[in-house]
Amino acid sequence: MTVGVIGAGLAGVEAAHALSKRGFCVKLHEMKPQKLTPAHSYRGFAELVCSNSLKSDNLTSAAGLLKAEMRLLGSLVLEVAELTKVSAGGALAVDREAFSDEITKRLKADPNIEIITGEVTGFPLENTIIATGPLTSGAFAYAIKQKCGGFLNFYDAAAPIVTHESVNFNKAFFGNRYGKDGADYLNCPFTEEEYETFYKELINAETVPLRVFENLTVYEGCMPVEILAKRGRDSVRFGCMKPVGFTDPRTDKRPYALVQLRPENSKRTLFNIVGFQTNLKFGEQERVFRLIPGLEKAEFMRYGVMHRNTFLDSPRVLNRYFMLKGSKNIYFAGQITGTEGYAESAAGGIIAGISLARALSGKEPPELPETSIIGALSRYISDDESRDFQPMGANMGLLPPPGAPIKNKQERYAALSARALTDLKAILFSH
Ligand SMILES: Cc1cc2nc3c(=O)[nH]c(=O)nc-3n(C[C@H](O)[C@H](O)[C@H](O)COP(=O)(O)OP(=O)(O)OC[C@H]3O[C@@H](n4cnc5c(N)ncnc54)[C@H](O)[C@@H]3O)c2cc1C
Repeated sequence: MTVGVIGAGLAGVEAAHALSKRGFCVKLHEMKPQKLTPAHSYRGFAELVCSNSLKSDNLTSAAGLLKAEMRLLGSLVLEVAELTKVSAGGALAVDREAFSDEITKRLKADPNIEIITGEVTGFPLENTIIATGPLTSGAFAYAIKQKCGGFLNFYDAAAPIVTHESVNFNKAFFGNRYGKDGADYLNCPFTEEEYETFYKELINAETVPLRVFENLTVYEGCMPVEILAKRGRDSVRFGCMKPVGFTDPRTDKRPYALVQLRPENSKRTLFNIVGFQTNLKFGEQERVFRLIPGLEKAEFMRYGVMHRNTFLDSPRVLNRYFMLKGSKNIYFAGQITGTEGYAESAAGGIIAGISLARALSGKEPPELPETSIIGALSRYISDDESRDFQPMGANMGLLPPPGAPIKNKQERYAALSARALTDLKAILFSH
């Protein structure tokens, strides 16, 4: 039987893979390279539009637990991430082009998957997963709106990328916080005076005007650095510029503030400025970010940008298996459902793929345990129609507390992870 998947982003590639593995023929529609969203620029599938990190891989974090669950469910994205990873401390970061190329190659080589290049503009009738992401093209967004009611919006921002060769290593140095796990990050230390000058310029720099008819809500996790900075003189010094765990090799003292850069590719020729997602005008990014010690002559390969990020009012229109209520097997997956983040989007693709495959085989959808991050997120997007729905990423607060209270946070998170994996395995092995 042939099914459709629209969008070959993180969710779409997982959905197509999950369906193909279960014996279905998939028509995978992707508009790239004919048409690009404002944030996409690469030719391949599963493009990471901003950071190249899929966040922590540690089981004492929600991001790490989510990945462990996805591996149990046969994630293509994580299999390829392992092959194309660049070292980034405890985080799973990838060479974004190698990652996208490998996923594209695998899907193109899959005999069950037919790739159809071109923008989809009409709403499908049945047996389809829609995974067109937060920047779904205008015509298709209109078709979805007609069918599912209004979209909700917020803004999302990306951080700039600079070249390794333009960094001044008389000031910048390699190292991880508290000297942990090697020396993956490039660090730019500030004196108090340097911070003072930088801070003033950052909060007074010119930003790109946003379209006035769009209601501005900025998701906390993607807050532009200049907006965060405006909350107070030390807000960024306690956030993305925190110096704890570092000693400046030039002074042998802890710097007053510090900016970190993470490798973008395995050759380590490109670095992104961690936490510096921004909506400053391009000229202003050069002027202000070159005040960062070590980046005086930084060459910008990509500027930070800010975009509208669109999602459905999911609790009203989707059930917990990501299916459009009352439809003939129309599913949504990824960021468009209001799950926030790369791994979360990919996880949604797996669940929608498995659910559609089971529905077409006359089986019940998988009853994911509420103690797992995947189960908790799917409940989050579908429960309680009356609330003001906002996007959500993986976090331990979504899970029911452990049976007996555990005071130590690391131990509590480890216990929640162990319980989640046990419960998820029990369900997988019972099917
Ligand atoms: C600017 C920005 C920065 C972000 N930064 C991060 C970050 O740093 N870390 C993080 O974890 N998350 C980030 N996110 C959030 C989210 O994780 C990503 O948007 C993620 O790529 C979502 O995956 P997806 O599969 O839902 O959509 P996407 O990865 O966007 O995939 C959707 C695909 O559908 C295609 N498409 C769209 N419309 C059509 C159509 N009509 N017909 C055919 N194809 C179509 C697109 O070309 C695209 O390939 C960011 C989002 C934005 C907008």
